[in-house]
Amino acid sequence: MTRNSLPEMLAPDTSGIARATEILAAGGLVAVPTETVYGLAARADSDAAVAAIYRAKGRPDFNPLIVHVPDLAAAEALAHFDDRARRLAGAFWPGALTLVLPRRADARLAAAVTAGLPTVALRCPAHRVMKDLLGAAGFALAAPSANQSGAVSPTSAAHVAASLGARVDAIIDGGECLTGIESTILALRADGNWEILRPGPITKDHISEVLGTENEAVTSAGGVEAPGQLASHYAPGKPVRLDAKEARPGEFLIGFDEVAGQVSLSLAGDLAEAASRLYACLHLAAQASEQRVAVAPIPDEGIGAAINDRLRRAAA
Ligand code: AMP
Ligand code: MG
Repeated sequence: MTRNSLPEMLAPDTSGIARATEILAAGGLVAVPTETVYGLAARADSDAAVAAIYRAKGRPDFNPLIVHVPDLAAAEALAHFDDRARRLAGAFWPGALTLVLPRRADARLAAAVTAGLPTVALRCPAHRVMKDLLGAAGFALAAPSANQSGAVSPTSAAHVAASLGARVDAIIDGGECLTGIESTILALRADGNWEILRPGPITKDHISEVLGTENEAVTSAGGVEAPGQLASHYAPGKPVRLDAKEARPGEFLIGFDEVAGQVSLSLAGDLAEAASRLYACLHLAAQASEQRVAVAPIPDEGIGAAINDRLRRAAA
């Protein structure tokens, strides 16, 4: 694929999905809306296509990709599912839960997808456009967030175009992402323990309802198994101050609840709304004339834990 011209903008309809399938089948890159954020998709079974993802994002090659599948059967062709994994898939798929499971020896996956790990990260997305695309394609899609590595994640087609531009062959414009924050990543260990590697829309309480609390592992220091959880990530390119009750001179304040800002994550103090607006607000902060960003305190409950995880990395 040549990547010296602007990306094709595709409608989220049958003809757009047919064109996207054609580009993906040939090894190209297509940005696709999901319920979490926009993904930069390529066929997961092609070394060249997967290498193109890393190149386009400037992503370090030790940071593995999430593989997206249309259903549990497709997932079971790539990884070993135990009873816990099947119960979780039954409870949360399609949806914003990524499962890290032992990779099958015969899985049709490019080696770079898993960055040499014996495990693979799998998700079955709920967004209608991504589902239709996976159904039409007939192959699994590796899809990290469709932004330059380390930058603010995209929740609209315009965010993708601004961050990746001609580095992507096509963008399916499906409007704004409703959940707005990346999937929860959950590792199921062979010893029976489980660990949240990245907090997200499916909370620890949701997972405990299915797995109980006894086997929750103590979070491993340094996150060796989730190399993508680098300290600095989601960064708007300016200093970020957290827990701000008001703006100091020269700051662009992102508000929440009664803390009013230039923009607000949610005037009503609604955490789901705050998650859906988080990256759009960080993009606005990045473009603002102020040289610094401040963010109001966000309660650490429910999806608030995932919002605070992203904000800490944006501030790192
Ligand atoms: P992104 O593609 O930007 O949503 O980031 C994907 C995240 O999934 C990164 O934090 C990766 O480190 C993580 N990930 C992908 N595959 C694995 C795996 N096999 N084990 C642990 N973490 C993984
Ligand atoms: Mg990302």
